[in-house]
Amino acid sequence: MSHGKNLQFDSKCVHAGIGDYEFGPVVPPIYQTSTFRFKDSAHGAALFKGEVDGYIYTRMKNPTIKALENAMAELEGGHKALGCASGMSAVSTTLIALLKSGDHIVCSKSVYGPTNTFINTILSKFGVEATFVDSEFAEEVEKAMKPNTKVVYVETPGNPTMSITDLEAVSKIAHKNGALVVVDNTFMSPALQQPFVFGVDIVLHSMTKFLNGHADVVGGVVVVKDEEMYLKMRKVLNQHGGVIDPFNSFLVHRGLKTLSIRMQRHCENTLPIAEYLEKHPKVKWVRFPGLKSHPQYEIGLKQHKGHGGMISFELNGGYKAGEILMNSVRFCQLAVSLGGVETLIQHPASMTHLTMGEEARKAAGITEGLIRLSVGIENVKDILADLEQALAKIS
Ligand SMILES: *Cc1c(COP(=O)(O)O)cnc(C)c1O
Repeated sequence: MSHGKNLQFDSKCVHAGIGDYEFGPVVPPIYQTSTFRFKDSAHGAALFKGEVDGYIYTRMKNPTIKALENAMAELEGGHKALGCASGMSAVSTTLIALLKSGDHIVCSKSVYGPTNTFINTILSKFGVEATFVDSEFAEEVEKAMKPNTKVVYVETPGNPTMSITDLEAVSKIAHKNGALVVVDNTFMSPALQQPFVFGVDIVLHSMTKFLNGHADVVGGVVVVKDEEMYLKMRKVLNQHGGVIDPFNSFLVHRGLKTLSIRMQRHCENTLPIAEYLEKHPKVKWVRFPGLKSHPQYEIGLKQHKGHGGMISFELNGGYKAGEILMNSVRFCQLAVSLGGVETLIQHPASMTHLTMGEEARKAAGITEGLIRLSVGIENVKDILADLEQALAKIS
């Protein structure tokens, strides 16, 4: 069944990736099997040689996973996608595929903590050199480029500082120098930002967050622009082994159907909360792409279809005050992760970004008092009331 590429985005969310299956189900069945029977030995041999299309073994290909991959390729406007066991599997598969010993990577300073740690502790072991830059200043990316730079890795908005990188400018710089641009699009999802439009080469996600949206799956995805890159990535994923499983694929695919309306609600809820916090006398600063005070507000307007559901802020009382806030919320939940239907609050310096180390956090602008809020899709009045009562506990 073909749904056409010219549907509106919210219609695509409902229909993308759904094919024809035996008995005509309207959603892809869960093919919960590790392996697939061959018709005879010649069929098995032909499948392995790639002479016929079909399924062999779930680490290589599975119809339920394929359905989700097709959906993600369509939603991002890419060629094909690869379903990964986690966002970190998407990050590691991509970087292992693109880099070899002696290569150099330029990476945003403000990235997901374990991405920074992967580059610094694992890629470095294999002789890959890295430079971390404030990628919101395109000239910093340009300055960091070297003859052996193969990858420019950008997270925008950056986790957790919410810094916004101009994807068009950075893509031009990277391409001029013969490097590829990889974007972690987890914070926005394709509902709000489609990086391929701005010339980037690879888009990846933690599907654990907005894409699945229900805080019950860990998963990741890499979306590529052409067949050559797809085959290269697929080979690495096959051997690296971090593939998503059929049941989690089914759940994420189900989550995608409501992506558009969930993102709309996340956006509607988050702006008034950011404005409330910015005006609050106990709040020192707030970073949210929808506030005019955001240093890259204009780039955000160019790049985003909405401002998203993530806020970072710091209280006047720093970490001590933040601790009281986190321990006093009753409706918002004190937990890491983000992008789910429920509002979550956490402290990056002692939690998600602990392994980066104090020095790297400082360089990235992740202050010790920074609090990250992932605004859910509940009624905004309940979220505001909870923040109000918790802020009142701070003297
Ligand atoms: C959570 C997250 C990741 C890692 O994803 P997992 O699914 O937890 O492995 C990568 N990038 C960003 C921006 C994230 O928020």
